[in-house]
Amino acid sequence: MLPEEHLEKRGITDPAVLHAIRSVAREEFVPAELRAEAFDDRPLQIGFDATISQPYIVAAMTQLLEVRAENRVLEIGTGSGFQAAVLSCLVAAVYSVEIVPELARSATERLGRLGYANVFVKEADGSLGWPEEAPFDRIILTAAPLQIPDALLGQLAPGGLLVAPEGGPEQQVLILVSKSAAGECSRKTVFPVSFIPMRRT
Ligand code: SAH
Repeated sequence: MLPEEHLEKRGITDPAVLHAIRSVAREEFVPAELRAEAFDDRPLQIGFDATISQPYIVAAMTQLLEVRAENRVLEIGTGSGFQAAVLSCLVAAVYSVEIVPELARSATERLGRLGYANVFVKEADGSLGWPEEAPFDRIILTAAPLQIPDALLGQLAPGGLLVAPEGGPEQQVLILVSKSAAGECSRKTVFPVSFIPMRRT
């Protein structure tokens, strides 16, 4: 089965999302020795306790964000840069924060080399967001906090959407937060997930 058929069978139906996933060369985002496995639908280790998320999860979270071409998106947990690259095909700009210096550096180099000019990577603790660039129309967390940090909810624009894994190592769920035009947040639980924990400084 082609990877995209596999995604469609699991409910990824947004043609723009499927197109974006197809257009990013996943093998460029995994260590050389794992290239043969780049298209398996599972997370792969990329060093420094980080993983590149499985294609289905990247697609599902991207679809949940209902992005629009003019959106500015904040990502917490750059890792390999794969999720940021997928989003960058669909939106105006992606601001991605990574706490591990080596990963921030290698993702910056990789995204630049592959021509993703609308992705900006910063080395910092993502639980604080990126205040200088806030507010964001969409926010995505790819490391799991015990609770979604208030700073991130605060940096979400009115009418915005945030998707995040939340919870401890025993039990995590994907949460979708919508912020109303009046600035009130409501939460929906989507499905159980398993992300690496968000580090704290
Ligand atoms: N989105 C990535 C997958 C990320 S794995 C991809 O597409 O490849 C989770 C990442 O979150 C790891 O790189 C980890 O170092 C990072 N991380 C963990 N805690 C963080 C924090 N507090 N702030 C920013 N990044 C964090």
